[in-house]
Amino acid sequence: MNIRLTPLFSSSSGNSYLISAGETNILVDAGVTGSQLTQALQEVSVDPHSINGIIITHEHVDHIKGVGVMSRKFDIPVYANALTWEQMEDKVGNIALKNQRVVDKTDFFIKDLCIMPFSVSHDAADPVGYSLGSGNNRVSILTDTGKVTENMLDAIEGSSLVVLEANHDIEMLRNGPYPYALKQRIMSNKGHLSNMTAAGTALELYKRGVRGLILGHISSHNNKKILAFRTVAGFCEKQGIEINKDLFIISANRTSVTGTFKVGSDK
Ligand SMILES: [Zn+2]
Ligand SMILES: [Zn+2]
Repeated sequence: MNIRLTPLFSSSSGNSYLISAGETNILVDAGVTGSQLTQALQEVSVDPHSINGIIITHEHVDHIKGVGVMSRKFDIPVYANALTWEQMEDKVGNIALKNQRVVDKTDFFIKDLCIMPFSVSHDAADPVGYSLGSGNNRVSILTDTGKVTENMLDAIEGSSLVVLEANHDIEMLRNGPYPYALKQRIMSNKGHLSNMTAAGTALELYKRGVRGLILGHISSHNNKKILAFRTVAGFCEKQGIEINKDLFIISANRTSVTGTFKVGSDK
């Protein structure tokens, strides 16, 4: 069975990814308003009633803004770990008890998709990334992390396609408008990945069998889509990797649907 990954929104102003396999539809995060999400789903011809679950990476508003509305309006179960639930409970409003699913860091299934959470390094209660699989096919989401560890690479290994954070260009961030403390937070080990760190990570992932990268969570103040692409692609090319032949790379749109990317066979 193939897996389809559709970045709906990917930036500091809101994140949501649709992952589908067969009749299973899952949202990773819902960080824009309910109406924005509903409209984006309509654009890709997915009925919001058919969403089987929203899995949460962490409690920052750009990941949970529309969670409550979506869950209430379309009766969607929400999955997060205990510490994340604790932090987001007040922010998402009332969610029906049956739709509050507390998960730990062991693999679990939502219909056809196996969900594999892994820890990331970010200034939130208990932030995670996710690998989602069906049969031999897997896709992964790695954003909102200040560094990339062996554990994270191990967790992602075997994924055909990865959403990889390329949040900022370090020079643009240094010279940009953000206050000093915020710059320090973004650059810290619990902040966000720079283009250069994403480039190094891209090479590591390629060595581990990853053949497609969607660069995401690209800052509108401290980065440009083309700059993120050029930094990561340029670095990989220098290592002898042919872009879009050996390794597919694209920058995600910040505030609109990027497209649907398919991995695996059609059976
Ligand atoms: Zn974020
Ligand atoms: Zn965050």
